[in-house]
Amino acid sequence: MKIYFEHIDAIHQFTMELNYHYNTLKCKYCQNCNQFVSHGFVYKKQNNGEKKAVGKRLFCSNRHGKLGCGRTTRLYLAILIPTFQYTNRQIFIFLSALLSMSSIQKAYKLATNTDDPRNAYRWLHKLWNKLIDYRCFLNLHTQCESFKFKFRARRLQILLPTIHELFLKIKELPCTQYQMLTQTSFA
Ligand SMILES: [Zn+2]
Repeated sequence: MKIYFEHIDAIHQFTMELNYHYNTLKCKYCQNCNQFVSHGFVYKKQNNGEKKAVGKRLFCSNRHGKLGCGRTTRLYLAILIPTFQYTNRQIFIFLSALLSMSSIQKAYKLATNTDDPRNAYRWLHKLWNKLIDYRCFLNLHTQCESFKFKFRARRLQILLPTIHELFLKIKELPCTQYQMLTQTSFA
């Protein structure tokens, strides 16, 4: 089921036309099909304090004769990673800097303008856990290592060549587009 969208308008339109998507709507909690009703926008506070719509909820309805489970499913803008405070834009800057041989601290500073890189290690941990998915997406059957990254930490030696391949395959906004193409979270 499609949960990542390019624009908020596309999300809104999708939720207004649920009948057209009859065959694709399946609740991930109860596995029932076609019990969703549109259930309002999800907002995120911007740096300037203003709220901006970044997604919408679908309610798996258990009312008015519907047989759903009563839970909600979120539809997201593809630029967002559901469990991250920062967006795919920052993740892309971070990974691009690592590919250009920046230190983890410097790459994180470039991406987020903050000095403490503790969170960067959390990012790397999550990216590491997605490595098999990236490799499936890229159809890579053998371990790709590169001499270029030989002097980096062991996990980066393994992760960065795959990220490099991914960025070669998806040239524009690769992290965001990965979510659009696979309908799964980048990290
Ligand atoms: Zn359900």
